Amino acid sequence: MPLVNAKEMLTKAKAGQYAVGQFNINNLEWTKAILLTAQELNSPVILGVSEGAGKYMCGYKTIVGMVNGMLEELNITVPVALHLDHGSYDGAKACIEAGFSSVMFDGSHYAIEENIEKTKELVGICNDLGLSLEAEVGSIGGEEDGVVGAGECADPDECKMIADLGITMLAAGIGNIHGKYPENWAGLSFDTLDAIQQKTGDMPLVLHGGTGIPADMIKKAISLGVSKINVNTECQLAFADATRKYVEAGKDLEGKGFDPRKLLAPGFEAIKATVKEKMELFGSIDKA
Ligand SMILES: [Zn+2]
Repeated sequence: MPLVNAKEMLTKAKAGQYAVGQFNINNLEWTKAILLTAQELNSPVILGVSEGAGKYMCGYKTIVGMVNGMLEELNITVPVALHLDHGSYDGAKACIEAGFSSVMFDGSHYAIEENIEKTKELVGICNDLGLSLEAEVGSIGGEEDGVVGAGECADPDECKMIADLGITMLAAGIGNIHGKYPENWAGLSFDTLDAIQQKTGDMPLVLHGGTGIPADMIKKAISLGVSKINVNTECQLAFADATRKYVEAGKDLEGKGFDPRKLLAPGFEAIKATVKEKMELFGSIDKA
């Protein structure tokens, strides 16, 4: 099945009280691991690409070519969206041109008026082309491609203003953080999430920084309208851990253990296991 936008899968998720995972990709192994797991579990999935990962993978056109090729060659039949994560205005336009099916415009660092103006322009472009658009209100803590935020809570009234522009899904800060959570993290603000949901109605809400949020908080967030959860760091940690174990066990020195197809296999399997665990937690299995 060709790429789809994220609208239908997220509308269904919101109505069915589960969440679709966005898993960020970094290379071929990452992409293949996520797509195969989604297919095996009959789950919809969103492939996330940050602007940094886009540069790393030789640009958006390379990524579109790789993903489209895999959808065909691996016979992927579950719904797959290819989504720009935390895009700039120019980055969003570049991904739209390159063939992404979904983009995020992160205007959270602008004043709300400018965020609204730029988001509105992209709503028009995405609607014309049948693409989904994610917008953000209130910066999310931790590091987003080098920009460090403090983990603030979004203003529910501002969330409503952005939601009313006609976007597909809304990311709003509710005390969540990118990367690893610090020991003294205060947890998610469910009061804020509830207030945002009350104001934005059917709008699917997005939870960024999914790595390390306890399972019970994830479930509660889903019950309060979160329909898309972003996972990035957790796959990176699982990949690094499995690769380190392989090398520390000296397996790269045995026989043809240095073959990249062998060397990267444990990390590949670790990503698959992480994606599976998240899809189980999010409730997206058999929802394709
Ligand atoms: Zn994020």
